[in-house]
Parts: sequence; C-alpha cells; structure tokens
Amino acid sequence: MLGLMQSQPLLISSLIEFAERHHGDAEIVSRRVEGDIHRYTYRDLAARARRLANALDDLKLQFSDRVATLAWNGYRHMEMYFGVSGSGRVLHTVNPRLHPDQIAWIINHAEDQVMCFDATFLPLVQAVHARCPTVKKWVALCDADKLPADTGIPGLTSYEAWIGAQSSDYAWPEFDENSASSMCYTSGTTGNPKAALYSHRSTTLHAYAAALPDVMCLSARDSVLPVVPMFHVNAWGIPYSAALTGCKLVFPGPAMDGKSIYELIEAEKVSYAAGVPTVWQMMLGHMKPAGLKFSTLRRTVIGGSACPPAMIHAFKEDYGVEVLHAWGMTEMSPLGTLCTLKNKHLVMSKDEQMKILQKQGRAIYGVDMKIVGGDGNELPWDGKTYGDLLVKGPWIVGSYFKGEGGDPLVRDAQGRGWFPTGDVATIDADGFMQITDRSKDVIKSGGEWISSIDIENIAMAHPAIAMAACVGMPHPKWDERPIVAVVKRPGTEVTREELLAFYEGKTAKWQIPDDVVFVDAIPIGATGKMLKTKLREQLKDYKLPGL
Ligand code: AMP
Repeated sequence: MLGLMQSQPLLISSLIEFAERHHGDAEIVSRRVEGDIHRYTYRDLAARARRLANALDDLKLQFSDRVATLAWNGYRHMEMYFGVSGSGRVLHTVNPRLHPDQIAWIINHAEDQVMCFDATFLPLVQAVHARCPTVKKWVALCDADKLPADTGIPGLTSYEAWIGAQSSDYAWPEFDENSASSMCYTSGTTGNPKAALYSHRSTTLHAYAAALPDVMCLSARDSVLPVVPMFHVNAWGIPYSAALTGCKLVFPGPAMDGKSIYELIEAEKVSYAAGVPTVWQMMLGHMKPAGLKFSTLRRTVIGGSACPPAMIHAFKEDYGVEVLHAWGMTEMSPLGTLCTLKNKHLVMSKDEQMKILQKQGRAIYGVDMKIVGGDGNELPWDGKTYGDLLVKGPWIVGSYFKGEGGDPLVRDAQGRGWFPTGDVATIDADGFMQITDRSKDVIKSGGEWISSIDIENIAMAHPAIAMAACVGMPHPKWDERPIVAVVKRPGTEVTREELLAFYEGKTAKWQIPDDVVFVDAIPIGATGKMLKTKLREQLKDYKLPGL
C-alpha cells in the first residue's frame, strides 16, 4: 500500500519561490567586482532569476543543457543558481583558479552552451574562448554600460542588457526531481577531472539537512557570509539553504583578503561565516596585530581541509566565536560530517570538549559512513583503528558525468554501493570521525602509520608558524620518515631545533618529524588545499639528515 500524501517533486525552483513568498524582504548584500556594495532582496532575486530563465528560453536552450559560470560569490551568480536550474538547465560552476587548459577541457567536456563570467576573468575567457566551440553565448556579468570593448569574444553581451530585455513573468516548470540541476568538476590532481552531477532531489535534501541545528544551524535570524566559493561545490550548499531559511546573505565578491572580509563582517553584522582554514588564517592574521574584535560574529563553519586546533581555540578563546569543523567533498554535495557536541559532553571540561571539537565530526542524517581495512571488512568504531572511509547516501555520487572512470562504488554483502572517499579516518564509539590523511598522503614508518594532519596541527600550534605541511621522505630502514615544511609568521623567529623540541610530549617520540624545512610558501591548489604533490616535487632533491 502506498502512502496517500501529495507527491510533489523536490525542485530548486521551490526554494526560491519559498524565499520570495516568506522572506521577500530579507537582504542579499554583495561586494561587486566594481568595488561597490550592492543590496537587494530575495524578492528582487526571484524576479531576476525568472528574467534569466526567459533569456535561456529565448536562446532555445533545451532541458538539461549546460550553462556555465566563471564567477565570484555575488547576487548575479546566485540568480544563475536558481534561474538556470529552476528552468531545467544544468548550472556548471567552473573554478577560475584552474589552469586555462584545464578550464577549456572542462567546458568542452561539459558541452557548455552559455558562459557567464565576471569581468575579473575576461583575460581567462579571452585565452580559452576560441577553444570552446560548444559555447554559443558569452555573457559578461556586468552593467550594459560597463561591457568591455574590443574583447575579440564574438557576440559578447552584458548580463544586465541580456536579462533586462526579458519579462519577469515566468512559471517554473515541474519535472522529475531526479533531473540534473548542477555540476562541479573535482580538482583532478591526477588525470583529467571528473564531474559530480547533482540533481534537484539531492540538492534540496542537502539544503534541508545543511540547515539543521547540529549541521550548519542556519536560520532567518542569521546574517550569513559564505566565503567558500560558489564556484566550488555550490558554496557548500549555502545558497540553497539560505533560500530555505530566509537568512540575510552577504557575498564577498572578489575581495577575499583578511581586511576586506573582516570589514564586511562588521559592516553587515554577520553572525555566521563559512570558509576554508586559509581564509580564516588571513583574517586572524589581520585582526591580531591590530587588536580587532568581532561585534556580531558568533559561529563559523570551517572545512575543506583540516582545521588546526589552534585556530578553533583562537576563535573561541580570543574572539568568542564557535567553530564548526566540517568535512565533505565534491562528490558529497559536499557535506558529510559536522562537529558539534552531544548532550552528555556538556559536563566535560573545556579541554575534553576541545579534543572532540577538533575532529571532523558526526555524520549528518542522510550520510552513512564506515571505515574498512585492506580486505574491505568494516573496522571498529573505537577512535583508534583507522581505515579507508566509505560513504553512501542520497546526495553522494553514484557515478560520474558521462560514466567517466567507470563504476566508482564498492559493493557490500547486500549489494549496496559505497563511495570510497580516498580519506583515511578513525571513528569513535560516539560516531565522531577524524581524518588522519588522504590515503595518498599517508606516511608509513616502520610499518606504522603517521598522521600528517597530527604533525601539521602541532606545528601550527607554535606561535611562530603560519602554515605547515608534513610529507614522508624515503628512508632505507623505516621506509619513510616524516618531515615538516613550515612557513614562518612575518616578524617571528624559530629554529629547527626549537620546533622539533616543541613536539616533545605532544606526540609519540617516533612520530616526531626527522627534520624541519623552512619555505616561503606551501603550494595551494585551485580549491584552497595544500598541494602535497607539488611540495614533494619541490623537495625532490631533499635528503633526510644523516643519509
Ligand atoms: P574537494 O572535493 O575538492 O572538496 O575535496 C574533498 C577532500 O578535502 C576530502 O576528501 C578531504 O580529503 C579534504 N577535506 C575536506 N574537509 C576536510 C576536513 N575538515 N579535514 C580534513 N580534510 C578535509
């Protein structure tokens, strides 16, 4: 017997319809590429998303055709999130930090038909447009009178002229909730990138889950600043959860430096922010010497790479801001776990609580996770045993766009497919997961694994260290030994010996790195993560002391 409830597809258009009706006057504030601050409301956004949908109809774009963006976080990008997907097309957010050759490859692979880009990325578009035959319309996300001249890009139109010519009357179509809504290519450190193809159903369910109190805890009372880019995994789904909750949204545009972000937080009374650790590193680096404090910021989600405990501590103790450590990936829409305490933890000491809060956290309802050994058998949740982390759920990839890479899933005894994350982790008895490494970064010394994240976190707790990356170096006896590459904070000093002494008592003796290498910068990839492959290349002539 089937249930007798109404069967209404979960569609992205329903999110913006809801926001318009119930939170029509809630504000969306954006710093624009032009440098000024733009303000409007969800009501304005919804009307302009409908104009965009009409513009796409006029171009005779078919259902599921791809519309691409090369854009910062801002209101026009947000309109595309809803206008493109809501009208049944697929939004392809391209990461502008990738190499132009990779961008051209991705545009061709996705068969994008329209490309909308911020003026910042004009040189990039000029470099690739001739190599992108599928794109039939190039749109600059700017005012009609700001359209750059003599660009060499055929038929270049300004976004404002394009959608301005359209009516804001448009009835969002109804279709299968499993239809594709947006796509994002993985960073592809080895080989060509592969695309996760999200659906209306997966995105809407993820938006619901993300807003939950033990997840991102978003509400109509928040003023939310997503620093995490809209060009990578849909800014962790915040644009969708924002429409669902009606929170005020604040977009940083291209100004991602610590000073600009801090000023925006203060000016727009931001209560909630989200970003990768490097962004917050820059912001705290700006605030500390100037003795600045937050007036309204209360919570920040930090993820994308391991958040150093020293950062969680600094936010909490120095600035009264609660850090929510999050873990996820492109293939997971992206949220998998968030770290919040349980009721029984409230009576613990601050130090004990901090030990929990530095983990990557508990699974969200909708994400099943397990760790397995080399034989594929599940390992215990004891907080000590580590293994390959596998996940399954309705917002996790089943396969990649165009079947690239074959079937990525691993089947269990019941035939259910699990996605191997490529991360190595422990899970404790309370279900708190902690990443020890990417599987390809694991350091094996004398048959035992050393967590590079643990080694990095200790270095980052030293006041003179701004950034640390731990890699394994070949060793004739131990197979590999860890070394730590560090960047010093400006105006500080620390010697190799002092830093190695700093490890004493903080980790087992055999896990202490064999050496410290001082570098000017750690290579960072297109999604803000450390590029250890590149670091290893840079250190290819390095020899461990005594060898
Ligand atoms: P991406 O698909 O580019 O977003 O990268 C996903 C990967 O980033 C994950 O598989 C992890 O290796 C890493 N990652 C994301 N969040 C965290 C975190 N909180 N701690 C450690 N690693 C993380």
